Amino acid sequence: MQYHSTRDNSISVSSAQAIKQGLSSEGGLFVPESFPEVTLDEIENLAEMSYHERAYFVLSKFLTDFSEEDLKNCIASAYTREKFGTDAIAPMYKLNDKVYFLELWHGPTCAFKDMALQILPHFLTTSMRMTNENEEIIILVATSGDTGKAALEGFRDVNGTRIIVFYPDNGVSEIQKLQMVTQRGNNVSVAAVNGNFDDAQSGVKKIFTDTVYKELLDKNGFKLSSANSINWGRLVPQIVYYFSAYADLLASKEISIGDEINVVVPTGNFGNILAAYYAKKMGLPIRKFICASNENNVLTDFIKTGVYDKNRRFHTTISPSMDILISSNLERFLYDLSGRNDRIVSGFMSKLSEDGEYEVSADIRTAMQKLFDADCCDDKETMAAIRATYEESGYVMDTHTAVAKSVYDKYTARTGDTTKTVIASTASPFKFNQSVLIALEDYNAVAGKNEFELLEMLEKKSGMKCPASLSELKDRTPIFDTVVEKEQMENTVSDFLKVE
Ligand SMILES: *Cc1c(COP(=O)(O)O)cnc(C)c1O
Repeated sequence: MQYHSTRDNSISVSSAQAIKQGLSSEGGLFVPESFPEVTLDEIENLAEMSYHERAYFVLSKFLTDFSEEDLKNCIASAYTREKFGTDAIAPMYKLNDKVYFLELWHGPTCAFKDMALQILPHFLTTSMRMTNENEEIIILVATSGDTGKAALEGFRDVNGTRIIVFYPDNGVSEIQKLQMVTQRGNNVSVAAVNGNFDDAQSGVKKIFTDTVYKELLDKNGFKLSSANSINWGRLVPQIVYYFSAYADLLASKEISIGDEINVVVPTGNFGNILAAYYAKKMGLPIRKFICASNENNVLTDFIKTGVYDKNRRFHTTISPSMDILISSNLERFLYDLSGRNDRIVSGFMSKLSEDGEYEVSADIRTAMQKLFDADCCDDKETMAAIRATYEESGYVMDTHTAVAKSVYDKYTARTGDTTKTVIASTASPFKFNQSVLIALEDYNAVAGKNEFELLEMLEKKSGMKCPASLSELKDRTPIFDTVVEKEQMENTVSDFLKVE
């Protein structure tokens, strides 16, 4: 299986090369040359398999240059019971006869980014070895909170890699900061940047584009890389859990083989929902994809009208991981919808960077609307969904999952569709404890309480156990206390790597 670029079909690389490179040199994203087909018989067989076996089944169809042993090692290192607290890795929760939550947040940082960031480091080191590079990989991350921690956990103690995370000193929540500054691992470093997220991000970009510095690193056997969400190595592991969800529904006799299901995904960068779409292309019986957004509803408008327009106010919401105006993985979807037309995709993307908007053709719009539905909700509706679901069933959702549930309820009211539906649940409610508690109680109930008091309150209210990775933070001593000026970030990297 070779990979092409969404902006240049003539580019053709192996999966190891695509993963190592991340982004194609002309700015396009790597996509598989075709989608391997899976039969219903094969899907039926998945019902009896473990998550590891299901992962091998799906991943081996895309990473065809990886040996069986290498791929199995990647899977076994990433998805352990120790890290996920359950052999199911991505367990399903049945809300009622129509609705199931696919819980993607049992990993070490309590959010769905772990599903990809736990395995990406192993894909990367394997890809380096396969392409005969023996440099050590240096991962640089600028984070507004969640991705940094998930990347730290993914890369910690992975041989052949080191990771440095920069976060804005005053731009992350107290618990996010604690999660990062107490990070363990023999190959990690964390530093605060005196500034906001943009300062941290532009500092990292500057290091990536500094050719003199790159030479210096090269000379010392280091290769800079990023862990961002457009890497094929982050997308492909997400296809697995849609097959796994379907297999679980089969195993528990909620559906029969061949039955179509709907999928609802709380969407930001369009990676998670694109993975579900790819699963359907391979043959997984999915009827509708319901794309759920918060008040940053660029995608809702796009799917309804065919016009992508990022020229709008940015909203800070209680589902911050979806506060996004440019959904970078949409590019892969457009490539597919346009019949793999690299010229058309390049045109959209340059129009987006020049004018902040583009409009797709009627053909593309019609093809998209056949499979995709979209809607959005505001913070009030998100809170109402958390409360209503709790009152109905005792199940407590986080704010991102609640956006999906709210949009799903609107969808069924509008369409009367009674198809069994899987809602992607993307974070533990403990991670967004304050908003969840305000939804379940009220503002007064949380006033003046610190993070750890809130975690305890939520334990009592939900009857769920707070993930140890969050409650343990209380007793951890910070390891990283460096605060650097944004001009000093390169020096911080040099100090960590001991190069000069
Ligand atoms: C990243 C994230 C999302 C959005 O996923 P995309 O793949 O970017 O669409 C939703 N919920 C949570 C909790 C996330 O961390």
